[in-house]
Formats: sequence, structure tokens, C-alpha cells
Amino acid sequence: MIEAIPRPKKRLFLALILASLVVAALSGYGIWRVSFPGLANISEHLPILLGCLLAVTILLIATGVTGIILAILGLPTLSFFQELAWSAINLLFPLAIRIGKLLDFEKERVERSFIEVSNYLIKKKHIHIKAENLLILTPHCIQQESCPHKITRDIQNCRLCGGCQVGDLLQIQRKYGVHVAVVTGGTLARKVIKTLRPHAVLAIACERDLTSGIQDVFPLPVIGILNYRPNGPCCNTRIDVVQVEDAVRAFIQNGK
Ligand code: SF4
Repeated sequence: MIEAIPRPKKRLFLALILASLVVAALSGYGIWRVSFPGLANISEHLPILLGCLLAVTILLIATGVTGIILAILGLPTLSFFQELAWSAINLLFPLAIRIGKLLDFEKERVERSFIEVSNYLIKKKHIHIKAENLLILTPHCIQQESCPHKITRDIQNCRLCGGCQVGDLLQIQRKYGVHVAVVTGGTLARKVIKTLRPHAVLAIACERDLTSGIQDVFPLPVIGILNYRPNGPCCNTRIDVVQVEDAVRAFIQNGK
């Protein structure tokens, strides 16, 4: 019996991103104040130039954060806002993790909240694609450790013995005609994406790999599904097959 992962709250990530924005704005102001006398000695225009540069940067990040909040609230946003939103996330995310740590939120909890926000934003786009343009990516720790079959080379090598859930993914692949790749790491995952050029990815992984993967492949839409680790990290991991199949159906609805 797999212990269910509690559904993460989007508001944790949003609160930390807002706090990061405030910290970034205050740091920008601090940098400007500290460098003011030195720059003024060189030229009276330099402090103004630096001030404008910092103000525009903070303003763009703030616009990106506003874009995320508007999208979460279900309000229409221009694609320009979406681009800015992801840039803001990429810039502020490390700071959000640090602030979360200071406030005693474990990193994995913040990452889960980020994945929830990201999935929500992708679902709001109602992306419908052909089955052959959807790629399911999963790490090879889903394979039973003792299984001798080389499913990372080709998932068709799975014998569907029921020893692990690779067989379930193979059945989903055969039923819907989507691509499924079992990869040994981020480098191979990027290579598969480069080769297959999917229009969307359904990624199965732990919090850390999903968070970095989603940010890495932007603007490619990714729905992240967390795996279960009943035997500890990277060993005979499990997935919620119903969740995976529902996500496949949502992507290829009208697109098949
Ligand atoms: S289901 Fe496939 S991958 Fe898993 S143990 Fe059986 S043969 Fe190996």
C-alpha cells in the first residue's frame, strides 16, 4: 500500500515568491545606496543610471510575479506576462527556497508547492496535442532493481511481468500511442527531448528533479507527477497510474 503524498498548497510557493520579491527589491535599494557615493565621485549620472537599471529589473520581476498571481486567479494574461512569470520564477526560486528554510519549511515542501503552481498554470492553457507529440518521461528507479531487461534502451523490452510499474507505462504507451522513455538522468532526459521534439511532456520524478526539469525545458509545457519512494530515494519507486493516465487523456483529448 502506497502512502499518498498530501496535495501541496499553491499559496506556500506564492507567499515565498512574494517575500523573495520584497527581499530582492530591498537588496537592490541597498546596493544602490552603498554604491551611490563611489559612483557619484566618478560621474553624477552614474547613480541615476544604476538606479534606473535596478528599478527596471525589479519592475520586470514584479510584473512576472503579478502574471503568476493573475493566472492563478483565473484572469486572462498575455503570453508576454507568461514569459516574464517564468523568468521571475527562475530568478527568485533559489531565494524562495532560502526564505522557506529560514521559516522552517522543508525544501521538498516548497518544491511540491512550485510543481502544483506550475501544473496549474499548464492546465489552464488547455493544451491538446496529438498522442505522438506527448512524451512520458520517468527515471529508471521505477524499474524493479533485480529486473535484467534493458528498458532504458527500449521500454518494449519489458516483459510485463508485473514486478514493477514499467509494465503499466508500456500499456499506456500501447493504448494511447504516446512516447514513453525511461531515463537514467537529466542529461539523457534532455537528449530524448531533443530527439523526439515532443509538444508536451508528462514528467514523473521526485521533487528536486521535477523542479529543475520543469525550469530547464521551459517553454516546453510539462506536467509534473511526483513518484512515491516506499523503499527510500531512487529504489523501486512507484507511481499513481490513474493520475498518469488522467494526465495523458487531458493532453490528447481532441488531439488524437
Ligand atoms: S514489469 Fe517489466 S521492467 Fe518491471 S520487472 Fe517486469 S519485466 Fe522488468
